[in-house]
Amino acid sequence: MDTKQEGYSTKEIDKLGYHGSNTCEVYYDSVKVLPQYILGGQEKGLNNGWKQEMKLLNQERLVLSACAIGMAQAAYEDALEYAIAKLQRGNPLADTQAIQHTLAKMATELEVARTFAYATAWKEAAGYSPTKETSMCKYFAAETSKNIIRQGVNILGPDGSSMDYDMQRYLRDILILSIGGGTTQIQKNIISKSVGLKGV
Ligand SMILES: Cc1cc2nc3c(=O)[nH]c(=O)nc-3n(C[C@H](O)[C@H](O)[C@H](O)COP(=O)(O)OP(=O)(O)OC[C@H]3O[C@@H](n4cnc5c(N)ncnc54)[C@H](O)[C@@H]3O)c2cc1C
Repeated sequence: MDTKQEGYSTKEIDKLGYHGSNTCEVYYDSVKVLPQYILGGQEKGLNNGWKQEMKLLNQERLVLSACAIGMAQAAYEDALEYAIAKLQRGNPLADTQAIQHTLAKMATELEVARTFAYATAWKEAAGYSPTKETSMCKYFAAETSKNIIRQGVNILGPDGSSMDYDMQRYLRDILILSIGGGTTQIQKNIISKSVGLKGV
């Protein structure tokens, strides 16, 4: 619809993170949708919005998986750089096995999430419509990336919560990835159903 039409209004939501994306509540108060605005055309599109939306959900979940993996990659790189820089300044942070193992774990989790996302994106692009896999991918990418970022915060110690470093932003930004495009719980519901379990 034309957003200048009477009855349409929005209210911005003040969020903890993900400020690169503007988020609003959208209100439709007795608005009329004119025929030319029916997505897919009047004949195919009328009362078929949900069907059209369902087709897009796989792609939305893949895009959100990529967002989560990108944030985790940045957190991993910052943590690695931070540990090495401390070592160069005489603090043996990067020489301790605990830190090395944490970075090794972060790198491995990142690799698994990325490889799975590429494989799922390939299936979607090839036309297989992989609903179960996109739910698995989004849930895994969001939750794994959240864990990777938390490990990054830990490596930076007090600097992990300092506004002088980007790490705190990754932590704030990642939280929405467990919610948008269907929450982690909803992805698990979809996976359960697709492996033959009855929905609750
Ligand atoms: C920053 C942001 C951007 C967004 N952008 C968009 C957008 O562009 N377009 C759009 O359409 N929407 C958007 N959303 C909405 C988003 O997709 C929904 O908020 C999300 O899917 C959760 O749905 P809900 O709000 O109805 O939560 P609720 O259903 O109220 O969920 C509350 C809690 O209950 C849990 N829960 C609910 N039902 C079940 C169940 N059956 N089993 C187990 N647990 C359950 C959820 O997992 C969650 O933890 C956005 C939300 C945010 C926060």
